[in-house]
Amino acid sequence: MDQTPKTFGQQAGRRSWAEPWKIKMVEPIKMTNPADRQEELERAGYNTFLLRSECVYIDLLTDSGTSAMSDRQWAGMMLGDEAYAGSRNFYHLESAVQQYYGYRYVVPTHQGRGAEHLLSRAAITPGQYVAGNMYFTTTRLHQEMAGATFVDVIIDEAHDPENLHPFKGNVDLNKVQRLIDRVGADKVAYISLAGTVNMAGGQPVSMGNVRELRLLCDRYGIPIYLDATRMVENAFFIQEREPGYTGKTIAEILKEFCSFTHGAWMSAKKDNLVNIGGWLAVNDWDLFEELRNMVVIFEGLHTYGGLAGRDMEAIAIGIEEAVQDDHVRSRVGQVRYLGELLTAWNIPIVQPVGGHAIFLDAKRFYPHIPQDQFPAQTLAAELYLDSGIRSMERGVVSAGRDPQTGDHRYPALELTRLTIPRRVYTQAHMDVVAEAVQAVFEAAPQTRGLKLVYEPKYLRFFQARFERI
Ligand SMILES: *Cc1c(COP(=O)(O)O)cnc(C)c1O
Repeated sequence: MDQTPKTFGQQAGRRSWAEPWKIKMVEPIKMTNPADRQEELERAGYNTFLLRSECVYIDLLTDSGTSAMSDRQWAGMMLGDEAYAGSRNFYHLESAVQQYYGYRYVVPTHQGRGAEHLLSRAAITPGQYVAGNMYFTTTRLHQEMAGATFVDVIIDEAHDPENLHPFKGNVDLNKVQRLIDRVGADKVAYISLAGTVNMAGGQPVSMGNVRELRLLCDRYGIPIYLDATRMVENAFFIQEREPGYTGKTIAEILKEFCSFTHGAWMSAKKDNLVNIGGWLAVNDWDLFEELRNMVVIFEGLHTYGGLAGRDMEAIAIGIEEAVQDDHVRSRVGQVRYLGELLTAWNIPIVQPVGGHAIFLDAKRFYPHIPQDQFPAQTLAAELYLDSGIRSMERGVVSAGRDPQTGDHRYPALELTRLTIPRRVYTQAHMDVVAEAVQAVFEAAPQTRGLKLVYEPKYLRFFQARFERI
């Protein structure tokens, strides 16, 4: 874990650390050249979501569904029970969620947003509010489409990319209390708690915070639902940073954290180490009945929820692999390795480094580019042009427009995300990435911004097109 970047040279007494896996099968990737990259970027309207993956060298667009499955998971794929109803793989998935996350009732869904859709519809009455520790794109949209108004209750430190708070994902309990006082407890549908907080830079929530949040919510009868997408990584930070948790395993911490919440939705494409899948789990029987009924309309029967039996088997095995301490330490350790290199080279990134990604602070790369000329989108484009590395905008484009005024929402954080897939790239890839980021940073003063030329109505960052100003 304690890694010295290898560019610092061999040191006496140094003990290196390496991944707890070895490679059994490889996927060749294409080396790209500058002229082809320029052409491809223009074809893609300067949006990395529209690049063809074939034209990408190192793909850090997302850690979603991009993990490498283990030999055990692939073996599990051969054990798919593709019965329409009652597949044995469903029962395996159900028991893995019960064992490691601790919830009583489980509904499979095709991926995380399928679960968000069901829960938002079942738990929100139009006109209510949902309070969350910063928004996530698909989560907030489903909550808004179900008639809720989203209120951000994350601590102020989360909006400052240089603040070193160890748990920047924490909920500000005073903000929750003020919301309750303002609108009334019956108007707060639930707390939408995410661990870690993707949009804040993969920042964790502490055990102390969720414990206190539960006490507050119990006083008003407000449920807490957890976005458990990267909760395993969150557990690692608790183990590392919170007094009393150093001696506990990731699995123990995960289960304790979940016990303070009333249910969870999951994008299994992240922590659970699969290429597709999700689930929803709750403790309340009546809510479960509603969800189990709704899943049939939108996803599939309640014992497959849009997944093949083999997918559910891979998730069940992935859940168990994901909570192994060695795995989590190496996963977060690789992200941290890249972060430490960039920090040593004075490149502006969100600190402290989170669990799944490095977030480059585009405002500090490009102080001369105003936010309505999309600095983070520009940075993602420049990184691709420099070396074929694909990243993602997490700034004004992702934040979308205010539904009331129609104006851009201007988030305090204007970030470009380098997301590390699990068990896919080596430390040498991380070195190449760090060097490319440095080259783009050095060229920053000459870089011009972008203008929007096409904007879709929903989740515009996926399909918007830009041109160079
Ligand atoms: C990816 C993600 C989701 C949505 O899950 P999908 O599987 O992509 O539909 C929800 N919340 C968070 C925090 C995520 O990162």
